[in-house]
Amino acid sequence: MIKKLYPTAYIASIFDMDVEGLKQKGIKGIIFDIDNTLVPYDVVHPTDEIVEFFAKLQEEGFKITLVSNNTKDRVMKFNEKLKVIAIHESQKPLGKGFRKALHLMACKKEEAVIVGDQIFTDVYGGNLVGIQTILVKPVSDKDEWKTKIKRGIEKRVIRSYERKLYKGK
Ligand SMILES: [Mg+2]
Repeated sequence: MIKKLYPTAYIASIFDMDVEGLKQKGIKGIIFDIDNTLVPYDVVHPTDEIVEFFAKLQEEGFKITLVSNNTKDRVMKFNEKLKVIAIHESQKPLGKGFRKALHLMACKKEEAVIVGDQIFTDVYGGNLVGIQTILVKPVSDKDEWKTKIKRGIEKRVIRSYERKLYKGK
């Protein structure tokens, strides 16, 4: 059961993504969460580094979708510069936002990866749909109250996941 909460990989930041490795695994579409994956939840626009990183991913041939549980206004403003496919109020961990993303990127679930900072929305939701997940450390320790209450349990899941990796199981 707890395995449904484990990501495929756990990295410090989106900038540590193994872009070449993803390509070799046949990944064509990347689904990014926004809040605390790319920027803190109260930062309206992406940084220049993010804009450049997305451009690089697109040059490499990846399609990108933002899938966020946040509002239309938040997601549209954040996407002004990026101009990627964007889905707001996605109700993660329910699968419909992720399925819509696959459809819009014309990707099979095996050809996509989800990148997010939350076990109970991004990772669990990805596992339910059968999409690989990359968990990243939150870019800020500021969280909305809804998220704050889950962080303690998340830490325990991450510790258990890391023990599993260490044992090689
Ligand atoms: Mg998030």
